Amino acid sequence: MGIFKELGLREIINASGKMTALGASAVTDDIAQALKDAAQDYVDIDELMEFTGKVIAESTGAESGCPTCGAAAGIAISTAAVIAGENLSLIERIPNTAGLRNEIIVQKGQLVHFGASIGQMIQIGGGKVVEVGQANKVEKDHIEQAITDKTAALMYIKSHHAVQKGMQTIEVMMEVAQRHGLPFIIDAAAEEDFQQYITMGADIVIYSGGKALEGPTSGLICGKKELMEACRKQYKGVGRAMKVGKEAMVGLVTALRQYPLKTHNAEQQIARMTNLCNKLESIEGLTCSVKQDEAGRAIYRAQIHVDEQKTGFSAEKVLHLLEAGNPAIYLRHHYVNVGILSVDPRPLLEGQEDIIAREMIRILSGG
Ligand SMILES: *Cc1c(COP(=O)(O)O)cnc(C)c1O
Repeated sequence: MGIFKELGLREIINASGKMTALGASAVTDDIAQALKDAAQDYVDIDELMEFTGKVIAESTGAESGCPTCGAAAGIAISTAAVIAGENLSLIERIPNTAGLRNEIIVQKGQLVHFGASIGQMIQIGGGKVVEVGQANKVEKDHIEQAITDKTAALMYIKSHHAVQKGMQTIEVMMEVAQRHGLPFIIDAAAEEDFQQYITMGADIVIYSGGKALEGPTSGLICGKKELMEACRKQYKGVGRAMKVGKEAMVGLVTALRQYPLKTHNAEQQIARMTNLCNKLESIEGLTCSVKQDEAGRAIYRAQIHVDEQKTGFSAEKVLHLLEAGNPAIYLRHHYVNVGILSVDPRPLLEGQEDIIAREMIRILSGG
């Protein structure tokens, strides 16, 4: 029996993806063992932090790194670092940065909500958000002309949550930052490539440890040596309110070392989702096929079309009944408005696709 069930909480089947609201990732046995071993022992935390920084550097190709408790903390800590640097008195003043260089320039279509607000995380780090352009259109001039003697950094948010058209590219924004001698920060929280943006020349790149990395609840910042030293120093200030524990650091190290060895198990994903589809197609009005991820990643989801006329249920109704059940089943619902529900095989534990099939069939048979 799972720990959450034991605590009397509802059993969850996560078929939607890496969702913070559902616990993000379930780690491998090796990572779980590392978490346990760290939790039951002592270490010099500064030494562990520096070591973790080195592993982050090795994995990302950056000069150095800083562990965090998540990407959101990474935004706040990076912001504090570009404003206060390693000056202890300034570090202890954050988020009060009156009179300091504290402006962070962000394109308007990227100032999004990822589960909380990017702008708020910048403010926690003492940054004053300067949003430039309009929600669907930002010119290079908007960025360039927003730079003043108060500008602390330029920040780019690489995310499916952001507006994908009309924004200036990473290359353009980075060129502007470099020409003005300003740090360029990228929030790449959910991205899968841990080296790309460092290779491109970004000064600071922020990732989540619990998304693509499939590590424990954690995060990482990588980038230039001096800036990473400043990031780590923020734990004497605002970072203390977002303390990263020894367990998370050791789990993050293990996840980073495993990452290059990770296989996508494409064949296994396809086999499991084909099996699910075969079961579901016994219901009149359900059509199911295995589809590769829209962005071309090695994810093979079952795409289920619910014909409302034939089944008597809208896709939305099926979605809500599954979520309200026990176990509560969460499917991907980006296309629910056109009658499509998807099952993401990556977070599914062994055999859970059979439970999904059973519950869908039960609901649609009126049981
Ligand atoms: C998820 C996400 C975050 C926050 O990451 P956590 O690790 O959950 O703190 C920040 N920015 C973006 C764009 C995200 O998608």
